[in-house]
Amino acid sequence: MRLSWRRSSRAEDRFESWITQQHQRRVLAGETTPSGPCPDERFLRDLARKSKRIALSDPRIDHAATCPNCMKRLLVLRQERQSSRRKLAWALAGAACIVLVAGLIGLWRYESRQQMLAQAPPVAETVDLWDAATYRGQQPGQLQSVELPAARVHLTIILPRFSFAGQYLVGVTRDQDGNGVVAEGAAPTSGNGAQQKVSVDLDLRSAKPGAYFLSTTHEQDEAAYYYPLQIK
Ligand SMILES: [Zn+2]
Repeated sequence: MRLSWRRSSRAEDRFESWITQQHQRRVLAGETTPSGPCPDERFLRDLARKSKRIALSDPRIDHAATCPNCMKRLLVLRQERQSSRRKLAWALAGAACIVLVAGLIGLWRYESRQQMLAQAPPVAETVDLWDAATYRGQQPGQLQSVELPAARVHLTIILPRFSFAGQYLVGVTRDQDGNGVVAEGAAPTSGNGAQQKVSVDLDLRSAKPGAYFLSTTHEQDEAAYYYPLQIK
């Protein structure tokens, strides 16, 4: 039902546009007699874009519908309007493409940068706490501060004099009670003679620059030592 109605409606549309064309042909051929003077250009422009400013009862509509000059002008204005609309549509489509491409390039750059950062080897850093043993009894604030970058760090710590060999837990924490652990890693000591070293990988990429503590804890001893740390 609906389909046949649509079809007949389309046929009606065709019929109406045929009548319009026949009418236009007659007007342009001068077979009609217009009443009244020609309206101004502004009125014809409004009529061409079917402005709501124009009342259907306006006698100038009857004139324009029967005057060959006004009809010609109207057809030109309609065509201009259609082509400027088409240009606008193309311009909008072009702008949308540019935005899309710029977005894709931005995303691609962001992702390749993220990939580069993820694949970048850890920064090798060495922290020498050899002489820190002397200050064990004092406040950590009086020790020389250690600096590390906010990156993936392969940290080698030269442990304080007289440190035991064995497994160590190394951490970066917010305070010296071991709270707010930013990163930690465990490794056995290596070294020759009295000097013990421990190397761990710490991921400090999420750490905001500021003051932290570096802690070392011997697995059996379980006493943690905290050293002031600056993350840059
Ligand atoms: Zn006219």
